[in-house]
Amino acid sequence: MKGLEIEFLGTGTSTGVPQIKCSCQVCCSDDARDKRLRSSVIVRHKGKNLLIDCGPDFRTQILNASNNNLDALLISHIHYDHVGGIDDLRAYCSPEKPFPLYARQDVVNALKAHMPYCFSDSPYPGVPSFDITVIDNKAFLVGEVEILPLEVMHANLPILGFKIANMAYITDASYISSKTMQQLHNLDLLVINALRTEPHHSHFSLEETLTIIRKLTPQRAILTHMSHGIGLHEKVNKKLPQNVELAHDGLIVSI
Ligand SMILES: [Zn+2]
Ligand SMILES: [Zn+2]
Repeated sequence: MKGLEIEFLGTGTSTGVPQIKCSCQVCCSDDARDKRLRSSVIVRHKGKNLLIDCGPDFRTQILNASNNNLDALLISHIHYDHVGGIDDLRAYCSPEKPFPLYARQDVVNALKAHMPYCFSDSPYPGVPSFDITVIDNKAFLVGEVEILPLEVMHANLPILGFKIANMAYITDASYISSKTMQQLHNLDLLVINALRTEPHHSHFSLEETLTIIRKLTPQRAILTHMSHGIGLHEKVNKKLPQNVELAHDGLIVSI
């Protein structure tokens, strides 16, 4: 590993690919790169292993990851495909050593409502315990790793992307303000969502994402959070600009 490594545990939208009960050519593809678990990554930098989002496929993903060490969870937003696997983090914590979790206040409030058994005063033995830090738009440290939260809009829900070193990870965006855009110019690596070729009310389409990439001029851009509507990995990947590629589950990139 050089300065920073990112491992894609999942690169699919909320339904995953294949989608249940769909028989389209993408859902029926034999190419392993067309099988997408719900979106999540591990960023490894300066000795820390940072999990971004923990969806319902987390157990399968971490059992198959190249390295299962985790030091903290950063949450983009409260939707189930990004938090549905949090209970499985019990393997990483104990009441004496709660697991560090970083999220916006609205996400923390919703987690407490969704998983009250983890946050009660006398929790049931064995449930996961968390050391919560509420974050907003200010940079924070995990060990020596500085993380800058990036507010983007997911339809009308403000959610967070994260900039770590000269890499940014943005998922589920449908709009990025000019203020956030300013923080994203000339990255070594931009990971950003692109749902499908057709427009969608709460996620960028492929064309919208490519327009943003052209404005931001990263050295390399990798697309994630895709549905079956993106098309076959092999075919679509060939047509993308030279510095842009589709992610696939299991992809590991170092910068
Ligand atoms: Zn999502
Ligand atoms: Zn399909």
